[in-house]
Amino acid sequence: MDKKGLSKRQVFETLQEFKNKDLTYSSGNILGSMCTCAHPIAQDAYCDFLESNLGDPGLFKGTKALEDEVITMLGDLLGKKDVYGHVITGGTEANLMAMRAARNMTRETAINNSLEKPEIIVPKSAHFSFKKAADILGLHLKEAELDDDYCMDIDYLSENISKNTVAVVGVAGTTELGKIDPIPELSEICLDSNIYLHVDAAFGGFLIPFLNDIGYNFPQFDFSLEGVCSMTIDPHKMGLAPIPTGCILFREEKYLDVMNIDTPYLTQKQQSTIVGTRTGASSAAAWAIMKYMGREGYVKLATRAMEITEFLARNLVKSGFELVSSPELNIVAFNSPKINAHALAEKLEAEGWAVSVSACPPAIRVVLMPHIKREHIIDFIETLENIQESFD
Ligand code: PLP
Repeated sequence: MDKKGLSKRQVFETLQEFKNKDLTYSSGNILGSMCTCAHPIAQDAYCDFLESNLGDPGLFKGTKALEDEVITMLGDLLGKKDVYGHVITGGTEANLMAMRAARNMTRETAINNSLEKPEIIVPKSAHFSFKKAADILGLHLKEAELDDDYCMDIDYLSENISKNTVAVVGVAGTTELGKIDPIPELSEICLDSNIYLHVDAAFGGFLIPFLNDIGYNFPQFDFSLEGVCSMTIDPHKMGLAPIPTGCILFREEKYLDVMNIDTPYLTQKQQSTIVGTRTGASSAAAWAIMKYMGREGYVKLATRAMEITEFLARNLVKSGFELVSSPELNIVAFNSPKINAHALAEKLEAEGWAVSVSACPPAIRVVLMPHIKREHIIDFIETLENIQESFD
């Protein structure tokens, strides 16, 4: 640290120099991210609550009430109004909390300590946060095979559940392809085997209900299915909330109770979250944006995202690119017949486009977040065509 401080002007000028090196969502160049510009309403609400700490909720009763209302609104969106949970940093923390609850729950109920090597079963398409959770919690991770449509293979699951399985995970909106696992079937299997089922709807949670409103007919994926014990949903993805805003929802309070740790010096005597001091600003921002948008606002947002997705998919095919599969949500994965995905991604990056490459299968992956407009896609297709032509 320098001995003498800088002036305010020097501080902000220097900050701006750093900021100028960042990409921006509004440029339309960020094509591979599941985050986007937070809505100005959400940004203002966030800034208004910067000092609130939900790690000590007795000091911030108003903010705590906002968190509770966010959880109720999201529960209502996902099939059960009376759910329990927290506004946290994002999908990773939510998935970690869900796996911790499942492990602790099974530990409490295991007969004669019969739980030798606790394991979780997740589809191969699951987000890498489950690898972190398994590592942190000492769980063995079994990755279920996928079917031809890149969803969890139900037969694999049925054959691989064992007495050590503490949780099964289904994904509603996979990170790479936006696929939705067969959650009704997972719910049946988990109910029959008395196993905890977690649904990771970090991405799909702010899309599927709204797309169903306009006739998409996706199967049930939420708490309306009795077997679903917990859900991840991230307002900082398609919810237009600022980073960090994620949510974990539990069907019953007992799943929070099994994670409680005594916190003697705080206003609340026990805590079930992983972090201690945690921002209340995310709760305020999530509350503000959900109240402002209403269901109608999110329906419009999801509709626009799907329109631009279809526009990209149609034009890719017209230009001779191959889609991995037809998009279910606002993610398009594709390949060129002339150049492999990693090499193509590098060429696109050299032209200023930030795309990502999926692992399973390798493909260029574009997430059509609200900051991507039709004009960006027209430019992007032109760049792709030029690159492809250079290989003729
Ligand atoms: N789950 C899914 C399905 C995701 O797509 C992601 C991130 O993209 C996560 C979890 C992790 O979320 P975060 O990066 O907010 O921790």
